[in-house]
Amino acid sequence: MKRTVVRCASGGLYSTIWVPMVSLKAVRLGGSRWQRCPVHGKWETARPVDPGQLTAEQRRAAEAITDIGIP
Ligand SMILES: [Zn+2]
Repeated sequence: MKRTVVRCASGGLYSTIWVPMVSLKAVRLGGSRWQRCPVHGKWETARPVDPGQLTAEQRRAAEAITDIGIP
C-alpha cells in the first residue's frame, strides 16, 4: 500500500494513505486534508510533503507513524 508523507498543522510528520477516492475518514480541503493526527492525537489539517525535501531520517520516522491500518 502506497503511503504519502504529510505534515500536520503542528509540524508533525507522518505517513497516510493519500487516495483521493478514499476520503471517508477525512475531509478534503483543497490540497490539504482534515484528519486525525497520529502524532498529536487530535484533528488537524495535513498536507503532502515532497519526499525530496526530507532527510532520509525524517522520511524513515514519518513512515514509521501511520494513521490507519490496512483498510
Ligand atoms: Zn499533528
